[in-house]
Amino acid sequence: MRLDYLTIFPDYLAPLRLSLPGKAVDSGLLEIHVHDLRSWAHDKHRTVDDTPYGGGAGMVMKPEPWGEAFDALAVEPGDTIIFTTPSGERFDQRLAEDLATRGRLVFACGRYEGIDQRVIDHARSIAEVREISLGDYVLNGGEVAALAVTEAVVRLLPGFMGNAESLVEESHAASTGGLLEYPVYTKPPVWQGHEVPAVLRSGDHGAVARWRHDQARRRTAQRRPDLLAPSSIDDGSTIERAV
Ligand code: SAM
Repeated sequence: MRLDYLTIFPDYLAPLRLSLPGKAVDSGLLEIHVHDLRSWAHDKHRTVDDTPYGGGAGMVMKPEPWGEAFDALAVEPGDTIIFTTPSGERFDQRLAEDLATRGRLVFACGRYEGIDQRVIDHARSIAEVREISLGDYVLNGGEVAALAVTEAVVRLLPGFMGNAESLVEESHAASTGGLLEYPVYTKPPVWQGHEVPAVLRSGDHGAVARWRHDQARRRTAQRRPDLLAPSSIDDGSTIERAV
């Protein structure tokens, strides 16, 4: 997968070189290119923003540098341009799974009051566009959102995780029906007076699997009842299932 980032703060994206994404770059699984949007601003101050039409506070990102950047990066119809924005669709695991099937993602990181709307309209004419929000709050810029989306997406790529099994029972995974993960423990068996549940030390794999599933259901019901929705199963009965 190829990942491009357009930003006025390239240093914000330095963590992409660390840990597992860094290794994936070294192994050739990922190609990462971070671009300074100001490279496509031509005045003395390399200006990328201007005052908003209609008045009001703040500045708006000018369209021209974005258009030139898309041309220079040779963005084409098979690519996906991601605009990080608080008014986009809310990012979740399903969207991460969907984006993990793409060949190239181009992240457009907004700043100031956002990007001139014509950039998004133009982008739709040259590639697939997704406007994505990290959540219902406002960040200073799109870089943190781009990092979060990247991390959730790339860990789903075959070969990215050392142990692909780690993905199977995770919170929100389609394979678990979208449940939250059960509590996890490691050694020692007793710490600060708190004991590891006996079933996890029993060696009975069936009992462990049942306990984990039960804990995942309880935790989801307690913390995120919105993830549980009635759903029909083959025998015609109705069970609660996370979606
Ligand atoms: N004026 C904009 C609004 O009210 O929607 C907010 C602009 S914000 C200060 C600057 C940039 O941060 C946005 O263009 C976007 O790229 C990014 N951003 C802020 N909050 C975000 C969120 N919840 N999800 C994704 N990106 C966000």
